[in-house]
Amino acid sequence: MIKANDPKLKSWLPIDPSSDFPIQNLPFGIFKREGKLPRAGVAIGDCVIDLAEAALAGYMKELNVNLQIFENDYLNPVMGMGKEKCRMLRQIVSDMMNADNPELRDRPDLQKKIIHKCADVQLQMPVRIGDYTDFYSSIDHATNVGTMFRDPANALLPNWKHLPVGYHGRSSSICISGHSFYRPKGQIKAADAPLPSFGPTKALDFELELGFIIGRPSIMGDSITTEAADDYIFGMALFNDWSARDIQTWEYVPLGPFLAKNFASTLSPWIVTLDALEPFRTEGYKQDPPVLPYLQYTGNKNLDIPLEVSILGKDSKEETIVSRSNYKYMYWTMEQQLAHHTVNGCNINIGDLMASGTISGPEPSSFGSMLELTWRGTKPLKLKDGAERKFIEDGDTVIIRGHAERNGVRIGFGECKATVLPAK
Ligand code: MN
Repeated sequence: MIKANDPKLKSWLPIDPSSDFPIQNLPFGIFKREGKLPRAGVAIGDCVIDLAEAALAGYMKELNVNLQIFENDYLNPVMGMGKEKCRMLRQIVSDMMNADNPELRDRPDLQKKIIHKCADVQLQMPVRIGDYTDFYSSIDHATNVGTMFRDPANALLPNWKHLPVGYHGRSSSICISGHSFYRPKGQIKAADAPLPSFGPTKALDFELELGFIIGRPSIMGDSITTEAADDYIFGMALFNDWSARDIQTWEYVPLGPFLAKNFASTLSPWIVTLDALEPFRTEGYKQDPPVLPYLQYTGNKNLDIPLEVSILGKDSKEETIVSRSNYKYMYWTMEQQLAHHTVNGCNINIGDLMASGTISGPEPSSFGSMLELTWRGTKPLKLKDGAERKFIEDGDTVIIRGHAERNGVRIGFGECKATVLPAK
């Protein structure tokens, strides 16, 4: 048995070197085949491994769990096995697909049952998300927004470097990549207008984010330390926190975002395990002033994950990359976010989603929203077809992608993609 993350591992399944899903990744999702019920799967190359069929074939015996968990609409019961068994499951799949293991390699009959082409299945929302929290943890993003909307000299509010600021979002409108949604309508008040008016947003924006999924519940009253936090994190996925900037500007004082955010959010379909991302750990942001003891941590808790955002304009045939950022620009780590979230005794549940907040880097080309990229619409972006964008227009598709790469191994997330429809 070779450890699932080993760069030397090779699969007997042909995998394109540019695939986000080599044998070292093995992210989890939910898929559906025509006429069948949804079930749990693992992505490899351009294929999906049917965990329910693999269980029927006897591969999951050592897990010693009710194998019904793989025939489910969501991954929640699989994640509920706990970190150790999830780790064992990923290793079982790794061994199944290992080029040196003839068991499945030399059984085309069994392969036909267990392995499907991604093109032949429909990917579904992987997790039943109970609660969704969005943080605001990129210092460049918070500085840019504070500079635009408040005061360049005091861009960060006094609390920002002392706690990971966040708000409770809404899970009902989180959709799986590939969906479309209607341009939201709401109250908008122009700076020079005496009263608000009602209508479709004129400032629809994306937010480049990564979210993490909770795989272990905590008990109300308990707090999770930064050291224990990783035990509660199952994995990560790309996330677009769609935002209507004009609605947001008028509504957000004093309780934060509400209708400017909860009309739609997009999640990528494959949950990349924290285990698969371990090789990409990197040093965290130097935090100054020092944080309170419950937010302190040791080791490298940041992650080096390059990310990009593309726009496919409503009339264009070609995407334009409008932002190249990296998760490593985060000021606050996931472990700090989770420690802060639970420090008051707030309990978390399997399937909760915690998103990073917009991930902007120091360079203008690395900003993670149109608000920053066009500096509030004052510097429009040019798409490849010559069209200009201040914000996102009807018919536009926005695609987030990202993958980490080290020692010749590429661990990617696939796509987080959605299309905007005209207001209903
Ligand atoms: Mn956000």
